[in-house]
Amino acid sequence: MPPIRLLSPQTINRIAAGEVIERPAAAVKELVENALDAGASRIEIILTEGGISRIEVIDDGSGIAQQQLALAIERHATSKLTDEALVRIVTLGFRGEALPSIGAAARLTLISRPVGQDSAYKITVAGGLVGEVTPAAGQMGTRAIVEDLFYATPARKKFLRTPRAEGEAAERAVWRLAMSAPRVSFRLVANERVVFDVPAQDEAGRIAALFGRETAGAMLRLEAAREGVTLSGLAGPASLSRATTQLQSFVVNGRPVQDPLLRMALRLAYRDVIAQGRHPVASLRLEVPEAALDVNVHPAKTELRFADANGIRSLVIGAIGQLLARPVSLAHAPPLRPAMAFAPDRPSQAARGFAEAELSLLTPPMARQFTAPEAGPAHPLGAAIAQILDTYILSLAADGALVITDQHAAHERLTEERLRGEFMAGRVAAQPLLVPVVVDLPQSEAARLLAHTDTLQRLGLEIEAFGPGAVLVRALPAALKNPDAAGLLRDLAEEFAESDTPVALEARLDGALARLACHRSIRAGRRLSPEEMNALLREMEGTPRAGTCSHGRPTFLKLSSAEMEKMFGRRGF
Ligand code: ADP
Ligand code: MG
Repeated sequence: MPPIRLLSPQTINRIAAGEVIERPAAAVKELVENALDAGASRIEIILTEGGISRIEVIDDGSGIAQQQLALAIERHATSKLTDEALVRIVTLGFRGEALPSIGAAARLTLISRPVGQDSAYKITVAGGLVGEVTPAAGQMGTRAIVEDLFYATPARKKFLRTPRAEGEAAERAVWRLAMSAPRVSFRLVANERVVFDVPAQDEAGRIAALFGRETAGAMLRLEAAREGVTLSGLAGPASLSRATTQLQSFVVNGRPVQDPLLRMALRLAYRDVIAQGRHPVASLRLEVPEAALDVNVHPAKTELRFADANGIRSLVIGAIGQLLARPVSLAHAPPLRPAMAFAPDRPSQAARGFAEAELSLLTPPMARQFTAPEAGPAHPLGAAIAQILDTYILSLAADGALVITDQHAAHERLTEERLRGEFMAGRVAAQPLLVPVVVDLPQSEAARLLAHTDTLQRLGLEIEAFGPGAVLVRALPAALKNPDAAGLLRDLAEEFAESDTPVALEARLDGALARLACHRSIRAGRRLSPEEMNALLREMEGTPRAGTCSHGRPTFLKLSSAEMEKMFGRRGF
């Protein structure tokens, strides 16, 4: 074996660069964080070829003094960390690693001019080799230019994806930072195209600018607090789901994060109102006491450690659960657009449906009769006026909106919520097994499961210890038909490793509930009496989450009188 020796600073920086600057997006993020930490009110980011060939970040912040430029690009040199116990970290940066890492992997130029300094000064680092500090032309603030990222670390360069993919990731990083700092104006230019250019604004304005006005307008405000932690923000109703998680922003103590715990909590909060593979939109802000938070988990600083992970998780799930459980209001119903309502997936079939459409109209006196007591503001789904194809209920609300309800989807949700209520009330029936099943598991997992015996029993799952690394299953939840006991236990053990709530079991019970509900519900194609239709509408108004079925599809659509006026051209767009 060769003798032990210290690595050169250049090598150390290249190794660190691998962690801190994983890809162009990470360099962009670090530079913008520096601009924010410098108190900039305006930040411009210019990317060429996805940031691979060039990244430029210009800010009007405090700047770096001439005598400090050489230190700024030294490893572990920072002006930010004042609490060496790492508890009070109020800046985005604190590790003093970003600039030396970028300088080790690429060509970095810093041009900076603080207030009160006659001119700007410039320093360059290329592949770890530091140049002289020289005078340069420059505005107040700092301009950082990164060229040829990873030219000095070819091992990493190989892992770069296409400029387009890298550019997208870099744009996402700037988007998240812009979400976290609405009072700072941001301009992002990629390949000479302006991606966004947003002024200093309040939070609502920033959400509208970066989520889109229509989406932001349909989102619901939420606010919750628990043991010193506060949660605020906007979350979309289920009908606003997306194919990706792009419209999700999490900011913790002012820091944009992509924390797995928060992402998971959001997913769980929506799990039975949004279809598989779809994602909610949300902009959430958490304020957590500094002592209950560790931001120093990863060099990239995008993950956190919460002292009370379960508390945070329940806060998010609980607050969104409440939001989604708000009774039906027409404001949150997806609008009925011609394309959506009348031209579904298979147009030929739809057309045929229309030709054969059977409209069972209530007699006019009956409709009027239901309009007077049934269609007040307390009844946003209005009074039933007709049934279409024995499948959809057509109703009229007091404000003139027309509402179409899918009778099966709606009733399925009502049944499911009722069954869920029974489960919540602790009446989960357990089905004892004729022959108890022994499940072999790694010892740590078996122990973890057995530590939760009581919780599991309340969910209808009875287990006991059966020697080291084995668990005996005596009973399973009756609602689950022929569950695979071993698979269920393994999923649960894995989940208990992450958190203390048995999400797998709840999710499976939810699935079972949805199946049961589906079987017990009014079918499409059944003719309903006016009384039955109105009873269904009234029950929907009083039931949480009645706006979507358990597969995340809408249960009703609305056409407001304003939209009708627009469609008929009576009013401008
Ligand atoms: P950190 O941000 O963790 O302190 P960096 O390597 O990113 O480490 O930056 C080192 C130092 O350089 C910072 O502490 C700060 O003093 C200075 N600096 C970097 N970028 C800027 C900027 N845009 N404006 C003002 N000062 C900056
Ligand atoms: Mg920094």
